[in-house]
Amino acid sequence: MVSLLNLEGKVAVVTGATRGIGWATSQILAAHGSTLMLAGHSNRDLLDQRVEEIHSQFGVSVTGELFDVSDPDGVRDFYGRVNKLHKKIDILVNNAGILDDGLMGMISLKQYHNTFNTNVLGVVLNMQYASRLMSRNSTGSIVNISSIIGRFGNAGQVVYGGSKAAVIGITLSAAKELASKNIRVNAIAPGFIETDMVNQLPKEKYQERMASIKMGRIGTPEDVAKAVLFLASDLSNYISGQVIGVDGAMLI
Ligand code: NAP
Repeated sequence: MVSLLNLEGKVAVVTGATRGIGWATSQILAAHGSTLMLAGHSNRDLLDQRVEEIHSQFGVSVTGELFDVSDPDGVRDFYGRVNKLHKKIDILVNNAGILDDGLMGMISLKQYHNTFNTNVLGVVLNMQYASRLMSRNSTGSIVNISSIIGRFGNAGQVVYGGSKAAVIGITLSAAKELASKNIRVNAIAPGFIETDMVNQLPKEKYQERMASIKMGRIGTPEDVAKAVLFLASDLSNYISGQVIGVDGAMLI
């Protein structure tokens, strides 16, 4: 029997693919045979290194492109190249995101716009182009990375939490809109995951969040990547419009 986790013949796009959750996701998809297009942002050398690592470790077809997920022209050009190269896309992982905390009185317009442009507009733009390509073959899986903060909120995270709640709302509506084309759309809400993003937190905040994780350990990028693999694969082929928390029972 062919494994339902087998992604051979599938083409996947992962945004924010060079570091953290995006990098772990890229590796697990490649390990299961997927062709990959890694979407990087600011670091050409790191992206080239990641392409090389995926190719030598897993032997799958892989390319890397740099663009800003919130730049409409950049996103359009990227999917033009996906189309030219592969003529299709099966899996989109909308992972790129930024965290910029601040108490309500300190929120600047710049912080608001940057966060919403990357975390929300970026998701919408990538879904628009990817779903057009997916529609051609009446199949596809889109996985949007939200956050536990988008579901439960947190002091000092009005902007980030709002952007991640928007990702959930977008996921639910897109799931309804795309279901008839057999395109599934789900979200993952990670809890506290050990990446550069959380390593920038002040020590007290870091310890406070650690103390609320009932499983007693911080999550790893691989913990999240495994949930992405499930949603990307045929193991979940009747699951759409869901939000899966990957948080070690942080908030139950
Ligand atoms: P990370 O290590 O900081 O990585 C973020 C990635 O996003 C980087 O590859 C970055 O590329 C890319 N990126 C940022 N702005 C971009 C833009 N405008 N266009 C394209 N790419 C951009 O973060 P992470 O922890 O892996 O987070 C990944 C996702 O999980 C994010 O959406 C985050 O909100 C979510 N999340 C994380 C946690 C956690 O505890 N870590 C918890 C809940 C949710 P450059 O480095 O080149 O800018």
